[in-house]
Amino acid sequence: MFLARLTFGSDCGKPRERDALEDAAEWYLGALIRNGQIYGEYLFSWHDAMLVVYAHLARPDSLAARHNSEWARKSLDSVVEGFGHPPKCEIIEDDVPKRFPAWKRSDSFYLFTHAFDDKSPICSGDTGRPMPLYLLPLPELTRESIHFWSRSYNYHDYIWLDSAALEMPAYKQLADPTSNLSMRGRELCAEVERATNIPTYYYLKRYWGRNKGEAVRLCPGCGGEWHLSDGVVDERPFWDFHFRCERCRLVSHRADSYEDERHARIGEFKKSK
Ligand SMILES: [Zn+2]
Repeated sequence: MFLARLTFGSDCGKPRERDALEDAAEWYLGALIRNGQIYGEYLFSWHDAMLVVYAHLARPDSLAARHNSEWARKSLDSVVEGFGHPPKCEIIEDDVPKRFPAWKRSDSFYLFTHAFDDKSPICSGDTGRPMPLYLLPLPELTRESIHFWSRSYNYHDYIWLDSAALEMPAYKQLADPTSNLSMRGRELCAEVERATNIPTYYYLKRYWGRNKGEAVRLCPGCGGEWHLSDGVVDERPFWDFHFRCERCRLVSHRADSYEDERHARIGEFKKSK
């Protein structure tokens, strides 16, 4: 991510028009976020009668017109109508790479985010790097759906980490492959795979595990073997998964905690009755 300063322009000596100008800028920024062109929260202020916004770009050229969604194009028209020109973008970073990996070079993708992450949840299976959504050949609505799924996952993860009354319902949503959150995520993985022709896996959280048999637990989707490798997650890249099921398009790690086996059944394979 690259911090950028977007200078939208002046209020032309009409402070009463600032609300309308801010609205136009926010519609545009909202469209950029949903399309994966900018990430996370942005900050803005009027300074010397100029509207200035600080935002994180996915890549240095993320605001190029060729990447805009239909909504971004329309909202940019309103920005130009209000300010007289498009915003001026300056990258505020010393080290900006000249080249970035193309999405087509990934052998696989996986869908993953967490409470403190606001980047693209589509990550390269080779490097773990997030792949900006606007680069993928997806319908605009699918990109928006991935963005909103990602926010929903962030909120569930926050609630789980908070360990309050909704801790376990939130954990079930994160760890059970048949939860509403997981099923929606898995559908989105399938859409990404259809559009890119690159295998796309859903990452299934596993916090509570069993003292015996955790390393060889079965795929929670089909009950098949899906064990790939051993090793401690902290000592290896996150994307080097312990488990992967090609059939169910699921990946996961061994559990983090073995202190409360009562919760280990969440996310385990259940034979249908
Ligand atoms: Zn499976």
